[in-house]
Amino acid sequence: FQLPTLVNEPFGKTSFGPESPERARLVNALDDLKKAGAEKIQPVVDGVHVSGKKAAQQVSPFDHKLVLAEWEQADASLVEKAITGALEAKQKWVQTPLHERAAIFYRAAWLFQNDYRYKMMAATMLGQGKNPYQADIDCVAESIDFLKTFPALAADMYKNQPPFNAPGIWNRSEQRPLDGFVYAVSPFNFTALAVNLVLAPIIVGNVVIWKPSPGAMLSSWLFNEIMIEAGLPKGVVQFLPGDAEEVTNAVLSSKHFAALHFTGSTQVFQSLWSNIGSKIGFYTSYPRLIGETSGKNFHLIHSSANIRNAALKTIRAAFEYQGQKCSACSRVYIPESVAEEFLSIMVSEVKKLSMGSEVTDFCGPVISKTAFDRVCGYISQARSDDSVEVLVGGDSDDSVGYYIRPAVLKVSQPDSKYMSEEIFGPVVAVYVYKDETYGNELFQIIDETSDFALSGAVFSNDRDAITQATEGLRFSAGNFYVNDQCTGAMPGHQPFGGSRGSGTNDKAGSATLLQRFVSARTIKENF
Ligand code: GLU
Repeated sequence: FQLPTLVNEPFGKTSFGPESPERARLVNALDDLKKAGAEKIQPVVDGVHVSGKKAAQQVSPFDHKLVLAEWEQADASLVEKAITGALEAKQKWVQTPLHERAAIFYRAAWLFQNDYRYKMMAATMLGQGKNPYQADIDCVAESIDFLKTFPALAADMYKNQPPFNAPGIWNRSEQRPLDGFVYAVSPFNFTALAVNLVLAPIIVGNVVIWKPSPGAMLSSWLFNEIMIEAGLPKGVVQFLPGDAEEVTNAVLSSKHFAALHFTGSTQVFQSLWSNIGSKIGFYTSYPRLIGETSGKNFHLIHSSANIRNAALKTIRAAFEYQGQKCSACSRVYIPESVAEEFLSIMVSEVKKLSMGSEVTDFCGPVISKTAFDRVCGYISQARSDDSVEVLVGGDSDDSVGYYIRPAVLKVSQPDSKYMSEEIFGPVVAVYVYKDETYGNELFQIIDETSDFALSGAVFSNDRDAITQATEGLRFSAGNFYVNDQCTGAMPGHQPFGGSRGSGTNDKAGSATLLQRFVSARTIKENF
């Protein structure tokens, strides 16, 4: 059968302006959610909502008084039950033809687009601290793109198994799902990433034990409900909110653990990797470890660039969603000859950014008290550091929600910690380089300053300077942009992921990713 060609969901086209019908619907959905009181969330195992132990709460980062969800936590015995149920469900799911799996994905895409659109946006906005544009990109456009991309990629993958036949000898290759179950661990910052983490394995016949993020509990719950409504058979995805350590330990104690699909911090991914490695002989198969982790993403500006464009794109990459995208720009290299122009645009434009909980505000809060304290800690150290100048922003207020004004730091040392450590908040550090060092001397600094290699960009109107940077920074970023911001990868167009401390670079929403969730069997028949 033939699947339709992927047409990406349009984003950034909905105005949400004062008179727009979309704005009115969204405001209604936000009001409904605020009035509804805390949603009661339970683990879902084999399609049944089951009680867990003591409830935890998801509180809106916009407002400490707004409790969005109360969720019960899965304990070790529930995780064990879920694994058994998932492996049972797998027996049928493996045999479900791709067009049936695809139909479920397409129905889910339709539900995201229609019945759930505004509720999902409201849950992503209030729960994860987004404005409507950022929510639209995330839980409408990108989520739907993943839902539509995976069936098409799987169809291609199954199609491309060449037979090597001789008369009377029939060879074929079968792309089986992994021998066991997949453990998906999703982050708070993108609803779409939960979609990627859970659905990539299942389109090719796997079953998933899913631990959603506490910071994205309500949107994760709605996504799980959408999949049930779309007809996903019971047990194929087991929804297990819970204490990270307890759920993970129970998962990793099963010899049927076959893959980890993770987005989160480098530190957590590395500790999971060590834990798994320490008992490698225990598992039925070598588990596949797939992780997208931290970044310290850069914008490199050449003197030939359109400086205003570079500054505005830098503001977007650094401060959209308060710098909480793994891909967010957090270090900038600007040549001396244009530094003044660039920095004065940055400062004046950043001052204009509105912050708050109105639909039109550019900046919202950071996700939690821990994030607030971490980011404020960096800013207050910067203020008392002689090698750093805080050019604009950095004021903070956590009396109502976790608000921090976007901060631009000018550093005099290229290896300053503001240029190398992931802050994961609205802070960008700028280093002014001598124009004549553009080339290998500067590229080496960029490459060696941080342990990460997720995203980066060069801004230039000089083809040679672009080529030099593209080649000289070959291993410094998994997503490299020319004259564009280093955020906003679109499924099917810019497969997303990085290497080094940023992950295994298996590229969210790509054919490479699906390959990690299959294990081929070669069949030779004499017949
Ligand atoms: N894919 C997103 C982007 O390109 C980032 C996802 C993440 O934060 O992990 O901006």
